[in-house]
Amino acid sequence: KEMTDINALCDEYLRLAFHGLRAKDKTFNANFETSFDQSIGRISVMPQEIGRVILNLINNAFYAVTEKGKQQIAGYKPTVTVTTQKNGSKILIQIKDNGTGIPQTALDKIFQPFFTTKPTGQGTGLGLSMSYDIITKGHGGELKAETTQGERTVFTIQLPTN
Ligand code: ADP
Ligand code: MG
Repeated sequence: KEMTDINALCDEYLRLAFHGLRAKDKTFNANFETSFDQSIGRISVMPQEIGRVILNLINNAFYAVTEKGKQQIAGYKPTVTVTTQKNGSKILIQIKDNGTGIPQTALDKIFQPFFTTKPTGQGTGLGLSMSYDIITKGHGGELKAETTQGERTVFTIQLPTN
């Protein structure tokens, strides 16, 4: 573990994800927004592991906002928002999207290895199970999903600072 600037890490991976998707598909477009709590400072984490988690959550979010059904709604503005917050001795990192949402029936399974709803070749179903282990076992934190089907999804990472 090393003392890590979580805000800088989130910002870097958000840009990385956006430009990666853009490079693969010139028509890819989505808005991304950030709201960082500057009082967080540096916290002790495994930066590469936390980076993988953030990147996976952001890629899932971008995927959810580019789904065809939603894109056809007039005035729809696909948006992914990353926020950080200090909450007592804990740090919260939230990745929000106004994409497809997760059906209630799938919500129980998303953290299981190999669960994916993506077409073959587009998803391994390993991102969230890996993320869950990194946050809980690797950092003593929590990873939770809240969703409204057809409306939005929020993933919240909670990390202890001590
Ligand atoms: P993969 O991205 O390879 O499918 P993940 O473990 O990252 O695997 O995600 C598992 C499944 O959880 C996805 O296939 C999708 O059905 C659902 N999911 C994850 N994030 C989101 C999201 N932001 N919006 C809607 N569904 C999501
Ligand atoms: Mg994924």
